[in-house]
Amino acid sequence: VLDFELKILGSSSATPSVSRFPTSQILTIGNQINLIDCGEGTQMQLMRFKIKPQRICNIFISHMHGDHYFGLFGLISSMQLQGRTASLNLFGPPGLSELLSLSLRYSNTHLAFQINFRELDQSVYQQIHEEHFFTVHALPMEHRVSCCGFLFREKPKLRHLLKGAFPPNLSPSQLLKLKHGEDLYDEAGQVLLRHKDVTCDPRPSRSYAYFSDTRYNEDLLPYIRHVDLLYHEATFMDDLRHRAVQTFHSTARQAAELAAKAQVRQLLIGHFSVRYKDLTPLLEEARLYFPNTQLAVEGTTVRVSDELIKAV
Ligand SMILES: [Zn+2]
Repeated sequence: VLDFELKILGSSSATPSVSRFPTSQILTIGNQINLIDCGEGTQMQLMRFKIKPQRICNIFISHMHGDHYFGLFGLISSMQLQGRTASLNLFGPPGLSELLSLSLRYSNTHLAFQINFRELDQSVYQQIHEEHFFTVHALPMEHRVSCCGFLFREKPKLRHLLKGAFPPNLSPSQLLKLKHGEDLYDEAGQVLLRHKDVTCDPRPSRSYAYFSDTRYNEDLLPYIRHVDLLYHEATFMDDLRHRAVQTFHSTARQAAELAAKAQVRQLLIGHFSVRYKDLTPLLEEARLYFPNTQLAVEGTTVRVSDELIKAV
């Protein structure tokens, strides 16, 4: 079974804090390492959690507020210094590639690796990337600047062949047909073998939805229904709901209410305002509306398994 694991490197909002890092996360699917947002200090956190920057293949930046991307220039510069040659996919809002190329030009840096930049139209739900085992969709957020979240979904898997249930003389292409859920026919068009008799359902495909910075927004419910894991920003507690509306953020209660409406399996809340020294009240507020909630704090790791979601 492939790994499907999220690790929180940071989840603070706006200004730095001595105890918390701004937003960045690592999502590992199989042997592919995806970096989601890249706040200041991401490099330090990668070192702390022993994640090699050279193994990162995709970077997704949600929007152009500094607490979500100020770590990117340093990270790319280090990749160069450490001798990276493998190309890097970078997904982000308009303006990001211009900023990056300016910083490279004025430091007279010529990268030895290629950056494949994909500028995102952040206003529509759409597939933005495809890997062998998973797809990535952009989820339009409601924020002060153009912003999108991301939905990672494992591709549907092939059916499992039941041991001993099928005749031993089948060819590889016949076996593949059965795994794809097709029946086998003989030359006369008669059913030779029904896939249902010799295969069973595949493991369910796992999914992760990332809501970076956004006002409470139910428009995305159809896309995130039943996802295994939802990260939703919870900048404020609900007594500051008016502040959340003004600043295009959400409250812990709203994050939990959205999780409940979408019937997700587990919720992580993050992007906490620096005014909260103790995060327990945010967690307690969210759990009133969605019990299976955890805080996304530095080092929080969630492994999405087939049977249940394990926090490690
Ligand atoms: Zn923001």
